[in-house]
Amino acid sequence: MSLFDDDEEALDSNGKLIVPDEVQDAIRTLITWSGDDPTREGLVDTPSRVARAWREYCQGYGEDPSHHLSRTFEEVGGYDEIVLLKKIPFQSHCEHHMAPIIGHAHIAYLPHQRVVGISKLARVLQGYARRLQIQERLTAEIADCIWTHLEPVGVAVVIEASHACMTARGVRTPGVSMTTSRMMGVFREDERSRKEVLSLMGFE
Ligand SMILES: [Zn+2]
Repeated sequence: MSLFDDDEEALDSNGKLIVPDEVQDAIRTLITWSGDDPTREGLVDTPSRVARAWREYCQGYGEDPSHHLSRTFEEVGGYDEIVLLKKIPFQSHCEHHMAPIIGHAHIAYLPHQRVVGISKLARVLQGYARRLQIQERLTAEIADCIWTHLEPVGVAVVIEASHACMTARGVRTPGVSMTTSRMMGVFREDERSRKEVLSLMGFE
């Protein structure tokens, strides 16, 4: 079943996405397996709600995040310092448990002749976050995308997030967050540049 070759998807009379029976059945099976009765009143509409919610969580599969970087501005008035978007909140889901990953990202680049609208960096993040992910790959994909499409002098991406698969199950350690980073170009090669970008992000 390919869900994303959809120019137009079937909508019901209320304009909601129609959820195929086999998808609803799968969620009913999971409810039963979890120990509840999917036919009781409170759960009757849950399978279609869950299914639609998952399409929203995974919206990123339907887009190519690099599109957000296709429109660039070359008149930058000689600006050749770091551009940083700090503490961008995001939600993703871990590919091992399909549990929420909640955190924020700091995304910086040192432009080489062209810049993008600043909100585009957040859109690149959301495009990759709205998929099943691991934090390490999410970090790398954002950095690689900016590196390839903006051809800057340097890219730095730092993500801090907590993982529900760790806080709500397994070792159950609320409050723990994980930090990942990817440095490219001058931020990888030059210690002073790396220190500068990390201190702008609020790290020492
Ligand atoms: Zn997990």
